[in-house]
Amino acid sequence: MKISNDSVVSIHYTLTNDSGEVLDSSQGREPLAYLQGHGNIIPGLENALLDKEAGDKLKVTVKPDQGYGQRNDSMIQEVDITNFQEPEEVKPGIRIRVETNQGVSIAVVTKVEGEKVTLDMNHPLAGETLHFDVEVTEVRAASQDEISHGHVHGPGGHQH
Ligand code: ZN
Repeated sequence: MKISNDSVVSIHYTLTNDSGEVLDSSQGREPLAYLQGHGNIIPGLENALLDKEAGDKLKVTVKPDQGYGQRNDSMIQEVDITNFQEPEEVKPGIRIRVETNQGVSIAVVTKVEGEKVTLDMNHPLAGETLHFDVEVTEVRAASQDEISHGHVHGPGGHQH
């Protein structure tokens, strides 16, 4: 069957950046299962998979606007080191969980200068053009539960 909205789709994928560096891959793992048409994956990839079927292989290039967005300077913030429970652990390059108005998010410490810590909350792939090598391994109709939850249940998906 062809992929349409409310299809449960399983894919193997390899994600590389413009320099050909592998950023993520499902190789050696279970395929990724997602629910088409519910924003489970980035729009550029979801749109490219529409109407494909099991066995199809495709290469998809996704610009930032259809991927993780552009980098946004307002997502870079300076906070006081006294906000951290273990200030001695705060060093450039570490990832920390931060509470925002939109919930918990991951920030990277980019600079520590005296009492001032610079946090970058942009998605690590923001601003990147993404190159996906995709193989569709399975397509099936979603259950009513999956459609109402907006995600896949069972192997490769959520367990609730
Ligand atoms: Zn669920």
